Amino acid sequence: MTNHDLLIIGGGPAGLAAGLYAARARLSVLLIEKEMVGGQMATTELIENYPGFSEGSSGVELAEKMREQAERFGLRIELDEVMSVDFTRPEMAVTLGDGERTGRAAIIATGRRPQLLGVPGEIELRGRGVSYCATCDGPFFRDKRIVVVGGGNSAIEEALYLSRFASEVVVVHRRDKLRADRVLQERSFNNKKMRFVWDSVVTSIEGDGKVEALAVRNVKTGKTASIATDGVFVYVGNLPNTEVFKDEIELDERGYVIVDPELATSARGVFAAGDVRVGPAKQVATAVGDGALAVISAERYLENV
Ligand code: NAP
Repeated sequence: MTNHDLLIIGGGPAGLAAGLYAARARLSVLLIEKEMVGGQMATTELIENYPGFSEGSSGVELAEKMREQAERFGLRIELDEVMSVDFTRPEMAVTLGDGERTGRAAIIATGRRPQLLGVPGEIELRGRGVSYCATCDGPFFRDKRIVVVGGGNSAIEEALYLSRFASEVVVVHRRDKLRADRVLQERSFNNKKMRFVWDSVVTSIEGDGKVEALAVRNVKTGKTASIATDGVFVYVGNLPNTEVFKDEIELDERGYVIVDPELATSARGVFAAGDVRVGPAKQVATAVGDGALAVISAERYLENV
């Protein structure tokens, strides 16, 4: 069992930036990622607001570049799931499928996952027309009808992307105003393939083996309606991936990690970076900034223990 200076849990933009900073600072560092590097960023078709990429970049490409850059400085990445953690020992321990890894400090960068709608038919038809990833599944919907649920940046950005394939994109939103940034709103209102169903919530997703229709209810009038569709893309927010840490560090009431200005958590030597921590901005740019700051804070901590 090797003891590392630093364990990084999560390989999205926050974890990869932390990996780059730590490896370049010559810390012995291990990054543990459950599925694939890039996290939610890698499920985004086009990222236009990450500086340095004047034409934008796909999330997958940006993730690959971040990984390559960090590995060039010696970052080691293990693909495995963290089953449990123990941050009370001087050498904090992370248990993976094949045993324990220990480190003198740790950075939590596990990000978030999509929130489900929680309506009948959603689970049953997942992968059969119900999707949470336009980048992954959009191309299956060429010339088909699509419904996107939600009114935030993700919903509108992905609806715009899906309009490239679909014959029609209907956005179902529970209010009569979008939460998405103004630039995305303008683009979506000008998009000939898009239309909006306002003040409406989805009550069920229907279909025999694949999505065929969506039942919606107008929250102002109480009227119900059915929208015929081939696909439903759900973008109604996210949940932090913090279940495994809940007995070890302080979380807020929604499950986000509470940090101080240096990104230190309530556990000594444990820092948190990116979407997983409490904070108003959930952006690739802010996640990367967090990754850098978390390593600088971890280095300061390591020098003093
Ligand atoms: P979000 O901003 O929380 O938006 C979630 C949307 O879903 C809101 O419109 C919300 O309605 C709606 N909603 C929530 N629960 C619902 C339910 N049960 N039924 C129906 N609708 C529901 O989440 P997000 O769009 O995933 O974005 C998450 C964060 O990432 C945000 O901070 C966002 O700015 C950021 N992000 C940024 C970019 C970018 O900068 N280009 C791209 C993607 C994401 P209400 O509006 O009524 O609350």
